[in-house]
Amino acid sequence: MIDIKSLTLPELQEEMEKLGEKTYRAKQIYGWMHEKLADCFEGMTNLSGALRERLKKDYELVSLSMIQIQTSRQDGTSKFLFRLPDGNMIESVLMRYHHGNSVCISSQAGCRMGCRFCASTLDGLKRGLTPSEMLDQIYQIQKWSGERVHNVVVMGTGEPLDNYDALVRFLNLLTGEGGLHISQRNVTVSTCGIVPAIRKLAEERLQITLALSLHASGQEKREELMPIAKKYALFEVLEACRYYFEQTGRRITFEYSLVSGINDGEEDAAKLAALLKPLNGHVNLIPVNPIKERDYVQPDRRRVINFKNRLEKSGINVTIRREMGRDIDGACGQLRKSYMDMEKER
Ligand code: SAH
Repeated sequence: MIDIKSLTLPELQEEMEKLGEKTYRAKQIYGWMHEKLADCFEGMTNLSGALRERLKKDYELVSLSMIQIQTSRQDGTSKFLFRLPDGNMIESVLMRYHHGNSVCISSQAGCRMGCRFCASTLDGLKRGLTPSEMLDQIYQIQKWSGERVHNVVVMGTGEPLDNYDALVRFLNLLTGEGGLHISQRNVTVSTCGIVPAIRKLAEERLQITLALSLHASGQEKREELMPIAKKYALFEVLEACRYYFEQTGRRITFEYSLVSGINDGEEDAAKLAALLKPLNGHVNLIPVNPIKERDYVQPDRRRVINFKNRLEKSGINVTIRREMGRDIDGACGQLRKSYMDMEKER
């Protein structure tokens, strides 16, 4: 079965030619899938019955099932648990901001990067998602909310650059004409720092924002928190970020999860400022979201503010990530993990 929702318009046109159909059919089908967000071929009413039958037989129209929804009473953030066609589970988040709705999607079922503070990696990687599975998280959420999605962040479960080809295809389908046509500037991809893939992505010349998960200002500490740092050294990662900026003109966002007693000291801030000054990026501080499998805790509020002030004093642009949905399974991957643990116990 061909995953029809992952095909580009020219590829879909080729399929129609193979079926002996007029090529304008491709545009109609593409519009049904990516603009009207249809979940079945049956509903594509301007196609002939014969074509719909043919599509049902040879093509798969990937559509995720919403299994569970949790909505925060504090800020209206919603978390969604989806089942993929093969039974794997993933989660996505809808955040409502003044400037529009933002959806955070997963790029893989599980993750093999092993970051110490992250819940998504505890059970390893199941598999990378297809472009259609990445898209459909956004489509289902847009339909559920009845509101347009303005921003997309690829910051859910998984390492997007460990699923490179599917990611780039997804980005093109999401931001291209004839679909949701979300501006590339409103899309952020977050990576733990896979150097060759950052360089390759730079050469795609997309206008998306790259977010780098830094979490430490020195090689040794970064290795402790993120095993991938052993493979790609900090200086190489920062070089790749500079290259990304040069190729695309897009400033990098540096994510830094503050963990009490580990990376939240005055010296850490000073070192971080010196490291990032030449890169002219933006730092996003995230007080670590504690998970029960590890004993990492958040610094107190005063320490977080001090850290921010120290960076600002050196002329670094900083924000503290507003914590959304604290009252629902907060940290990345926790909803999925608690669901899977419950299934295991049954
Ligand atoms: N694999 C990608 C994207 C997924 S994680 C990456 O590493 O960037 C999205 C961001 O959340 C990353 O910066 C990640 O390090 C961070 N993160 C994961 N678990 C966290 C936790 N428990 N508390 C705070 N930040 C966390």
